[in-house]
Formats: sequence, structure tokens, C-alpha cells
Amino acid sequence: MVKKKSNEYIPDWVPENPSDAFATKVVKGITSDSKKSGENQSQKRTHLKIDDYVDGVLKNDRTILARAITLIESNSPAHYEKSQEVLKKLLPHSGNSIRIGITGFPGAGKSTLIETLGLFLIKQGHKVAVLAIDPSSTITKGSILGDKTRMEKLSREKNCFIRPSPSEGTLGGVARKSRETMLVCEAAGFDVILVETVGVGQSEVTVRSMVDFFLLIMLAGAGDELQGIKKGVIELADALVINKADGDNKPRALSAQAEFSMALKYIAPATKHWQTNAYTCSALTGEGIENIWNVITKYKEHTKSTGTFEERRKDQSLEWVFSLIDEQIKKSFYENPDIIKSLPKIQKDILSGKILPTAAAEVLLRVYKK
Ligand code: GDP
Repeated sequence: MVKKKSNEYIPDWVPENPSDAFATKVVKGITSDSKKSGENQSQKRTHLKIDDYVDGVLKNDRTILARAITLIESNSPAHYEKSQEVLKKLLPHSGNSIRIGITGFPGAGKSTLIETLGLFLIKQGHKVAVLAIDPSSTITKGSILGDKTRMEKLSREKNCFIRPSPSEGTLGGVARKSRETMLVCEAAGFDVILVETVGVGQSEVTVRSMVDFFLLIMLAGAGDELQGIKKGVIELADALVINKADGDNKPRALSAQAEFSMALKYIAPATKHWQTNAYTCSALTGEGIENIWNVITKYKEHTKSTGTFEERRKDQSLEWVFSLIDEQIKKSFYENPDIIKSLPKIQKDILSGKILPTAAAEVLLRVYKK
């Protein structure tokens, strides 16, 4: 923590002059234990050069890692260029991890499971980074994944790094930033990356396109509709976990597991040569968590031996390139001064029926191409 004014404290990764260019902001009211201990209070925020970022990340310096991610998340063109330079130098050191996507409806137990699994993995000697992709934050400016105290025990662990979702931008933009954040975490030595997302929309497809293994957390008896789980999401999963298999709920969880196991036989697997299965666990008591890790380990060994692991990563790299192009083209379109000028009138004309949507799109594209 860095002391700002006499009684105001901000995390290390918050930019010195937070402006709209940065995607992550800290709201008033954030305090920390370091306030009491006086830890780092005299630390001055120094200007970092590209090599400072690179060296700091490679040494697993938490403050610099956090600041590198803040740089990546920035919306300013100047920061973008610098972050790309940093990334270029870190890229050769990345890739050495298992990337795991975790999704599920709010309340299914994602954060509890991540905390239990994360603590288990750290005990085993792993270094765990937890990233969140929360598209709701771009709509509501609030965040489903960020509005409660989450993973308290895990966040205190030295070998764990937790980063909330960037809170501004489109899903594509948020995903681009998270993907780059993932690479930076790998360069910093984290060998398990957990990417959490809310199972209520498009974000699962995006997260699937950046992870090796995709875990869907469900509940017994809640009904597919209630859980907002579409068949499409099940088709993305490499494992289904029925959480809260404890106490009175255990028998229901076991029968849900049996039902899902049957249903999964008729669904095309998300990964070639890998049969998606259903399991039970209790994120609260920890029962079944080790088994989930065993499944993931087996999956990694299996897909590496068949070549599917590398093949998917290569496909994902290609997909990434195209999504970057999409993002840049879209940005350049909407930031084009002529488009900005013409858009309000054309929008009015579409709404009043003066012009058809297809013709409107054509006109705008013509304006842009000019
Ligand atoms: P998220 O919204 O998906 O991140 O869900 P949370 O992890 O916040 O969990 C929602 C609620 O379910 C919390 O009150 C948890 O304590 C509870 N919960 C999570 N996992 C379990 C579990 O395995 N068993 C039981 N009984 N409760 C759980």
C-alpha cells in the first residue's frame, strides 16, 4: 500500500494520476491492515521504464507485477504501446502453466471453490494466479465478481496473486487485457492460472478461448433454467462439478452427478479425445477438491500426449490475433471523427424510419472508408 494523503490509502497498482485512461479504479473507503502497521508508507511511486517492468515481473516483484497489469489495462494509446513492449519481452517467459477457466451461476460457489482449490495447490508447492473476467462490470459499472470480500484466506498467501476484472471496456477489450495479464502472471512464475467468470452470458465462450481446461460449477436441484446454464455452456466444459455436496444436500448432489454423467454421453466433448464427466465436491469442507485437481492433472497429461493441448494453444493464438484485429477495427471505426459526426443523424433517421438499417450501415461504412 502507498499512502496518498494524510488518511487516504491506495493499492500499489493504482496509477498515480488515475484518469479515465485506466480501466481499474479504486473507490473511496478501501483500507488495509497495512494502514495500521505503517508498511511501505514511505515508499515513493517511481517511474518505471520498460526494462524495470520486465525485470520486476521476472523476479516476481508483486508491486511491479501489479503495476505492469495496470499498464496493460490502461485505455490510453501511450500506455498501450508501452505495455506491448513489455509484453513482447515477457512473452518468451510465458506459457508454462495450466490455464483453468471456472464458471458457474452467482451463488454456485466459484469463489469458495477457488479459495479451497487455491489453498490446496499452494500447499502442494504451486503458485496460483486468479483472474476474473466479469462482463457485467462493463454494463453496470459494478461487478458481480468484485462486490464482496472474496477469497480472504487465499489473498493472504504469498504464492497467490488475485486480480479483479478490469472494470471498463467491452467484453472483447476486457478479454484482451485478461489474456495479456495471464501471460504476465506466467512470466512471473505462476504455474496455475485460474480464470473466473460468471456463467450468465457470452463471457464463457471468451474464457474458453483462452484456457486449457474449462470447469463448470453447478448445483443440485436448482434446475438448469434457474442456474442460467444453457446447453451451450455445458458443451464448453471439460468437467462439470456439482458443488455443495455436503450435509443434507449430499444425496441430491450425487443423483445430479449421475444424471449429468448420463446426459454428457450424448453431448459432443469440448476437447477432442476427452470425455467430459460430472463430479461432486464441497468447496466448503474441501471434500472432492483433490479429485478435481487429479482430473485436471490427468487431462493435462492426456491432452499433451495426444497433442491436443498444443494444438488448442496454437488455435487460441490465431483466434487471439483475429480478436485483436476485430477490436482495433471497431475502435478505429467508432473513433473516426467523420463517423462521430454522422452517427447521431443516421441513428435518428433509422429510428424515424427514414432509412433502412442495411442502407444506414452502408452509408456509415462508406463514410469510414473515405
Ligand atoms: P459464487 O457467487 O459462485 O462465487 O459463490 P460463493 O463462493 O460466494 O458461494 C455462495 C454461497 O454458497 C456462500 O454463502 C458460500 O459459503 C456457500 N457455499 C459455497 N460452496 C459451498 C459448499 O460446498 N457447501 C455449502 N454448504 N455451501 C457452500
